[in-house]
Amino acid sequence: QTAGDTEIFDRVESQVRSYSRSFPRLFTKARNAKIHGADGTEYIDFLAGCSSLNYGHNDPDMKSALIDHITSDGLTQGLDLFTNAKRDFLAAYENIILRPRNMNYRMQFTGPTGANAVEAAMKLARKVTGRQFIVSFTNGYHGVSLGALAATGNSGHRGAAGVTLSGIHRAAYDGYFGPDVDTAEMLDTQLSDPGSGIDAPAAIIVEAVQGEGGLKAASADWLRKVQAIARKHGALLIIDDIQAGCGRTGTFFSFEEIGLDPDIITHAKSISGMGLPMAAILIRPEHDIWKPAEHNGTFRGNNHAFVTARVALEKFWKNDRFEKAVKEKGDHLASRLEKIAQNHGLSARGRGMMRGVNAGSGERAEAICKECFKHDLIIETSGPHDEIVKVLCPLTIEKEVLDAGLDVMENAFATVFG
Ligand code: PMP
Repeated sequence: QTAGDTEIFDRVESQVRSYSRSFPRLFTKARNAKIHGADGTEYIDFLAGCSSLNYGHNDPDMKSALIDHITSDGLTQGLDLFTNAKRDFLAAYENIILRPRNMNYRMQFTGPTGANAVEAAMKLARKVTGRQFIVSFTNGYHGVSLGALAATGNSGHRGAAGVTLSGIHRAAYDGYFGPDVDTAEMLDTQLSDPGSGIDAPAAIIVEAVQGEGGLKAASADWLRKVQAIARKHGALLIIDDIQAGCGRTGTFFSFEEIGLDPDIITHAKSISGMGLPMAAILIRPEHDIWKPAEHNGTFRGNNHAFVTARVALEKFWKNDRFEKAVKEKGDHLASRLEKIAQNHGLSARGRGMMRGVNAGSGERAEAICKECFKHDLIIETSGPHDEIVKVLCPLTIEKEVLDAGLDVMENAFATVFG
């Protein structure tokens, strides 16, 4: 690439940006799990818009439905007007996702980011319960707006905001004190003690698998206990499925095989199917007590996103074929990562297609990602110290492309660990 390709970004764009520091190329095209650089290089994408591209880049069916919508003058931005695009998405969501799972929820469209869905969830829990406190977990990630940021456990993300909003109690996630300490029991004890000051939470917000927190999957048993604790103490259970949902763990919801029954579920990232901005929460009909304007946002009616979101549901979730394929690919990914980890005395972790390898330190993990990029693989780190090399490829990645990317990873670990 020429210097001119990226020079404008240094001159005109805020230096707050981060991904372009790790991957300083000009990208021009993308299809499924491959991204093309302006210089003709073809990169394998193990980042997938941080799980917002579960169905890959530019799915042909989503693309053509979107083009049809645009050429027929379908609405673009509809605030919360009734539109055909929204109607068709809601009908698909009801028929393909809710009914077969016996789930009775209403969908509230929030502003377009995950953080906005989290804000809506926490506000609704306060309104429903008349309580203030929210319990979140160590290393959880819920976004960077002030309320969501306060619930976020990673201090790196919180740094710039100084003291975050109060009213959040950060409890220990599963395994935080090692395998022998039951952190759910600790939370129950604290919530049972009026002297703790956190005895009446409005909600407990939790990820079934922590994405930014380092691909840490809570055990089914721990998650069930957390749900029971929420019920016992009159708090709503919010499952943040923004990163782990939409098939990432092998099922549409990250918690469905565990049998959880959350009060509120957050959706963003891959819900729109094609990387268009869209976020929502699922709420119980009896909790649908908002008055108009209590939680709105101009961009809660992105009709282009409704079109591609509907196609995603119809194409991938009408039967269990896709789910089975994702689970198979997830098992394959697990065994290859396990081998990479074993080669160097490291550990692999995660669930479904949401997995990583603990490289032992942030420096090593960064060196591995840099080495991967030299060999045309786009991959990033996560975890409390950025020590986890994180695989979040599209769920639709072809098996050969997945293996080609994993070969690059395997070599990069070998190079860095010597
Ligand atoms: N919750 C989770 C679990 C996330 O992974 C993220 C994004 N990484 C968010 C919330 C925030 O989403 P957004 O960046 O769209 O605000």
